Amino acid sequence: MATILITGGTGYIGAHCCLALAAAGHQPVVYDNLSNGHAQFVKWGPLVEGDIRDAARMKAAFAEHRPDLVLHCAGLIEVGESVKDPASFWDNNLVGSLTLLNAMREAHCRALVFSSTCATYGAPLQLPMDETHPQNPLNPYGWTKLAIERANQDFARAYGLKFAHLRYFNAAGAAAREGIGERHSPETHAIPLALFTLLGRREGFKIFGDDYDTRDGTCLRDYVHVLDLADAHVRAAERLLAGGESFAANLGTGDGVTVRELLAAIARVTSREVPASSAPRRDGDAPALVADNALARRELGWSPTRGLDAIIADAWEWHGEVEGRVFG
Ligand code: NAD
Repeated sequence: MATILITGGTGYIGAHCCLALAAAGHQPVVYDNLSNGHAQFVKWGPLVEGDIRDAARMKAAFAEHRPDLVLHCAGLIEVGESVKDPASFWDNNLVGSLTLLNAMREAHCRALVFSSTCATYGAPLQLPMDETHPQNPLNPYGWTKLAIERANQDFARAYGLKFAHLRYFNAAGAAAREGIGERHSPETHAIPLALFTLLGRREGFKIFGDDYDTRDGTCLRDYVHVLDLADAHVRAAERLLAGGESFAANLGTGDGVTVRELLAAIARVTSREVPASSAPRRDGDAPALVADNALARRELGWSPTRGLDAIIADAWEWHGEVEGRVFG
C-alpha cells in the first residue's frame, strides 16, 4: 500500500482517481485549494486545504503525510478562459507545478503522475495521434501543460524524478453510485451541456462550428470514461512505484465521435432529442482529436472498458438523479 498525494483531488478526475486508488488498496491524501473542487468529493482519505503555489503549505503536507508518489491533477482547465486570461493560467498551472516539483525534491518524493492533455498536440497532422505526434498547442492552456511536461523532463534528468505524463482525451461519465461526477463551473464540456439542456438547466445546445473537415462538419472527439482514466492512473502509479521508467501515454479510446454523432447517442440512451443549433467555431478548438492508445495498452496493460453509451448513461444518472442530492 502506498500513500499518494492527489493535487486537485476534490475535482472531477482527481476524485475518481481517489476512488480507484482506495479500491486498489492505496491511501489517497487530497491537496486542493477548493477553487474549483468540492469538499463533498473527499471520501477516501484526508483533505489538506492548500494552494499548490504555497510552498510552506506544500512542505508541511509532505512532512505530515510522507507520500510515496504525487498524482498531480490540480490546475485551471478551461481553454477559452486561458485565451482571455493567460496570466492566471501560467501562474496557477506552471508556477504551481514548479512549486510542487520543488516541494517533492525537498521531501525526496520522486514519483509523479501528471494530468496532461491531448491539447499539447494542437491540430492533428494525422489521426489517430500517437505520443510522437509533434506538440504544438493551439491555446495557452495547452502551452502551460506542455511547459510542465518539459519541466518534469528536466527534473527527471537532473534530480532523478520518475514521471508519467498521462495525456487525456475527453474525460466523461461519472461514478454516480459513489456520489461523484462532473461538476465544472462554468461547464464547457459537450456531454454535460447537452444533458443540462434535457434537464431544463440550459435553453439549447450549441454546436460550435459545422464547417470543419470531418465526416459531418462538426468537431470530432475521443470520449473516455473517467473510471477508465482512473484505472490508468492506478496502473501508472504502481508502475513508477515498482521502479519503472518515465513515460508519456495517451488515454483515449481510439474512437472518434462527431458532435452530431454524440447527440444521436444521447437520444439513443435517454430517449430524448437534444435541441441543438449551429454557432461559430470557438477559439482554440482543434477540428479532430483521436488517440492512438497502443502505448498505454502495451505498457500499462490498460484498455478502456466503457463505450460511449455507458459514458452517457453514467453521466445521465449523475446529473439527472445524484448531483442534486449531493449538492442539496
Ligand atoms: P477540475 O477543475 O474538476 O479539477 C481541478 C482541481 O484542481 C479542482 O479541484 C481545483 O480546486 C484544484 N486546483 C486548481 N488550482 C489549484 C491550486 N492552485 N492549488 C490547489 N488546487 C487547485 O478539473 P478536472 O476536469 O478534474 O481536470 C483535472 C486535470 O486533468 C487538470 O489538470 C486538467 O488540465 C486535466 N485534464 C482534464 C481533461 C478533462 O476532460 N476534464 C482533459 C485533459 C486534461
